[in-house]
Amino acid sequence: MNVLISEVGPRDGLQNISAIMPTEAKKAWIDAAFLAGVSEIEVGSFVPPRLLPQLADTAEIVSYARRIKGLTVAALVPNRMGAENAIKAGAHKITLPLSCSESHSKANLRRTHAEVLEEARQIAALISDLPEKERPHFEGSLSTAFGCTLEGHVPEEKVVELGIALMEAGCDEVGLADTTGYANPASVRRLIEKVWAAVGEDALTGIHLHNTRGLGLANAYAAFETGLRTFDSSLGGLGGCPFAPGASGNLVTEDLVYMFEAMGVSTGIDLEKLFGVRTLVQDALKDDDFYGFTPEAGLPLNFTPAKVSGVTSRTIGANS
Ligand code: ZN
Repeated sequence: MNVLISEVGPRDGLQNISAIMPTEAKKAWIDAAFLAGVSEIEVGSFVPPRLLPQLADTAEIVSYARRIKGLTVAALVPNRMGAENAIKAGAHKITLPLSCSESHSKANLRRTHAEVLEEARQIAALISDLPEKERPHFEGSLSTAFGCTLEGHVPEEKVVELGIALMEAGCDEVGLADTTGYANPASVRRLIEKVWAAVGEDALTGIHLHNTRGLGLANAYAAFETGLRTFDSSLGGLGGCPFAPGASGNLVTEDLVYMFEAMGVSTGIDLEKLFGVRTLVQDALKDDDFYGFTPEAGLPLNFTPAKVSGVTSRTIGANS
């Protein structure tokens, strides 16, 4: 596998649609995605159920997904209490979003930058108290890094400063997120290089892109060329950001996987099986819009995916 596609549909997708997917359907989605070759899934968010009833079963879903050997189970946490619950449920990776636009941060998390950074410090302390092999990977996500629907321009220096602050607060890594679909390939490259210069290349490996203005794949390619290797995307482009009016449509997993595989860059994901996952999820969410060009057009005649050594077909084996 040359790049890691982190499927965020069960979290970012489902939190932004009104339908509440039954727990059993979520489990079937996760199983099918894993069997198609997906190695990391953000399965939910530890927010109070009254705020996001769509994700009220996150703890159960994390515990369920944890049983799948070879799958990295990620979850979003808005604060220390969310992190405690995520750790209790057994998440391998927890992500705390920090919105680079402070207005967006107040609207989204109801917290100032200083308050989110304090949560980050408390989460890092919580993690360091755990035995080493039980510690989840802790990522601080720099959301609205490329612009904000409330403030417009977000200075790159601000993003860099917050990236440094998150690392100092004890994050293992920071990620860039184009929550509002404001990024372009040039700004993607520039911001990655600036953040790298400040925190080191090991501390920024992934990006979360939206396709709001049709630049999702171009931005992903720019990030890949610059050197990032982890890409968030959502099956069928489900979801967007309810706090960023007009921002709809995550990067579509099917199209992203197709782009990389067609380039000869292995994702570890079988496209035909991924289309099967799409059908499965569509059947469970009959009233929602699914995006993506590749699943509609089908694969080109004689399409050859990227070659990768050592691929074995997957089964769902329980973790010991
Ligand atoms: Zn998103």
